[in-house]
Amino acid sequence: MTAMRAMVLERPRTALVPRERPVPAPGPDELMIAVSACGVCRTDLHVVDGELEHPKLPIVPGHEIVGRVAAIGQGVSGFSVGERVGVPWLGATCGVCPYCREGAENLCDAPVFTGYTRDGGFATYTVADARYCFPLGEGGDDAGIAPWLCAGLIGWRSLRLAGDGKIVGLYGFGAAAHILAQVLKWQGRRTFAFTRKGDTRAQEFARSLGAEWAGASDDLPPELLDAAIIFVPVGALVPAALKAVKKGGRVVCGGIHMSDIPSFPYSILWEERQVRSVANLTREDAREFLALAPQAGVKCAVTCYPLDKANEALADLRQGRLEGAAVLIP
Ligand SMILES: [Zn+2]
Ligand SMILES: [Zn+2]
Repeated sequence: MTAMRAMVLERPRTALVPRERPVPAPGPDELMIAVSACGVCRTDLHVVDGELEHPKLPIVPGHEIVGRVAAIGQGVSGFSVGERVGVPWLGATCGVCPYCREGAENLCDAPVFTGYTRDGGFATYTVADARYCFPLGEGGDDAGIAPWLCAGLIGWRSLRLAGDGKIVGLYGFGAAAHILAQVLKWQGRRTFAFTRKGDTRAQEFARSLGAEWAGASDDLPPELLDAAIIFVPVGALVPAALKAVKKGGRVVCGGIHMSDIPSFPYSILWEERQVRSVANLTREDAREFLALAPQAGVKCAVTCYPLDKANEALADLRQGRLEGAAVLIP
């Protein structure tokens, strides 16, 4: 175990390249992890496409990591070699800024993000700050739970911010929405799914996971929504969703990047409708979701690719050719 394989982004807007590297040793407070599966998230696409500023370069993307502890750094407690762990997007926070001190570490002034400002999981090994890793137990297979680490966690945070309303609209039926539809069903709430016009396959997929209605993103649903969550990076969906929520309703934007939002009449925001974004996650979000997902029986639909097919996985995600989530298996 001296060399590892990684798919590396050397410059934005270029393909990832396979590289052999020395296996990293865990520093203080770190775990060295043998990756068993790593999900491919839309945020990875934004990093590769140069839509997020100042990535560490070269960077190994990937922040939905499931793996086993291979070595333990100094000062780490609570983990054992061989234990299955998950590594999410939030790689580390400063612990001292006003946001960290107020329990809003997702907004930390000096954060570290897995697969963006520190190397992630498109590799056979990775190191991560143990304080931001989560024990995953042995339930569920590695590939099937990898999407929990971002699609699940950010989806869960988005749903919390959307409130407790009975009818929730999900715009874009990809990895996050297909998890949330299952959570909503388990919670006894109603899901309306919005997809690209004419994407009958995605609409059928949404109905198969409990969505009561599925239609095009510019359709008005049969009943107005209590809240809408937008998972696709299309700013035009913000006014579309505002038109679909009832008085006092919320529109939550779950992605890290979005095209410009077109101007819209004040009347569709009027009556105390709200628009807000979701940034990153807190460890509390992760603990909540990782406890809830097995209870809710969340099962991910995944398409697995070998590690060296990472570019194909990214292309399939970009083109919307996937049902559910893409996962790399090193
Ligand atoms: Zn901070
Ligand atoms: Zn992500």
